[in-house]
Amino acid sequence: MKIHEYQAKALFREAGIPVPAGTVAQTVDEAVAAYEALGVEVGVVKAQIHAGGRGKGGGVKLVRSADECREAASAILGMQLVTHQTGPEGQKVKAVLVEAGSQIVHEYYVGITVDRSCGKPVLMVSTEGGMDIEAVAATSPEKILKQRFDVDAGLLDWQARTLSFGLGLPASSIAEACRIFKALAKLFIAKDSSLVEINPLVRTADGKLTALDGKMNFDSNALYRHPEIVELRDLDEEDARETAASAAGLSYIALDGSIGCMVNGAGLAMGTMDTIKLAGGEPANFLDVGGGATAEQVTTAFKIILSDPKVAAILVNIFGGIMKCDVIAEGIIAAAKEVHISVPLVVRLEGTNVERGRDLLEESGVDVITAGDLADAAAKAVEAVGAKA
Ligand code: ADP
Ligand code: MG
Repeated sequence: MKIHEYQAKALFREAGIPVPAGTVAQTVDEAVAAYEALGVEVGVVKAQIHAGGRGKGGGVKLVRSADECREAASAILGMQLVTHQTGPEGQKVKAVLVEAGSQIVHEYYVGITVDRSCGKPVLMVSTEGGMDIEAVAATSPEKILKQRFDVDAGLLDWQARTLSFGLGLPASSIAEACRIFKALAKLFIAKDSSLVEINPLVRTADGKLTALDGKMNFDSNALYRHPEIVELRDLDEEDARETAASAAGLSYIALDGSIGCMVNGAGLAMGTMDTIKLAGGEPANFLDVGGGATAEQVTTAFKIILSDPKVAAILVNIFGGIMKCDVIAEGIIAAAKEVHISVPLVVRLEGTNVERGRDLLEESGVDVITAGDLADAAAKAVEAVGAKA
């Protein structure tokens, strides 16, 4: 789960990480009032969406008067902001953060994520802050310094110092940088975060370090431990299909292709997506209906897949273990009655009650293309998409 910059900054502030003074505003008048209350000469109006790259997309504007603030807030609020992280359709801006402008001397990158190769969090810093850190990682990886740390011990003093000296910070900023890195590591662990980023952390003209941007993602599987984080959720920023799927207890991830997938088990879902690609197609989604899905959940899954206009064919690939093939067949039949299945439907069933499942499908008269094995199913789905296009 993701949160907005202003929410991440509130968590930073609580954790003792310095952030600029600022207020979130939903209307232009609120934004102007917020600017006036700040009592600063230079303010910044920042679009609040769950995506980075807002600066380049026109979602971050410096303002020097109430009039300029009004102009910037009018332009940003309600705009469809397109950044490299939003996709071409962009994201509608419903709120802006109005904050005090900083006099930037240098922009650094600071981030923590989980390093899966060693199963530990890794704190990364770079002198190349403010910009696209993925580009830095690709072209000059030596400019990213890393320290992996233990979840129980946290980031140790020597690790924080190694990173601070590595950044070439002036002696007067070392202690402050160490404090910030350690506080960020502590926050990351305490909130079961999966990603936290300060890009940029800036050194200002008065020698202080401040977090000018803030991003935090949380491990959805740990949200039950953090009701205070769940409260920060903004469903408007999330894929509506993913939200509906999670409410129905299904694991669904939207993708860009044209073949909708309905599979049981995450491993089989991955294998199905790979096989579709191998056959020359592109999956429209990852969908794991789980081990013990009911016919009702299967119907919901169909509705979610079909609500994606990019879907030109559906591939159902079920291995009946705990999940029985006849239950899937019932779900398909129920879904076909409730929602018009407007695209070719390829079904591959195997395992427990497979005969019963096939019989049910046949008797129902639902228009399905049956497949023998996975390669056959993928080939048929790809062919169906081709035939439709
Ligand atoms: P994004 O990463 O989405 O583009 P940022 O919050 O990083 O958004 O803002 C983009 C850039 O705008 C920053 O790298 C910084 O140069 C400038 N900026 C952001 N906030 C402030 C601020 N409070 N004062 C001065 N400049 C700022
Ligand atoms: Mg940024």
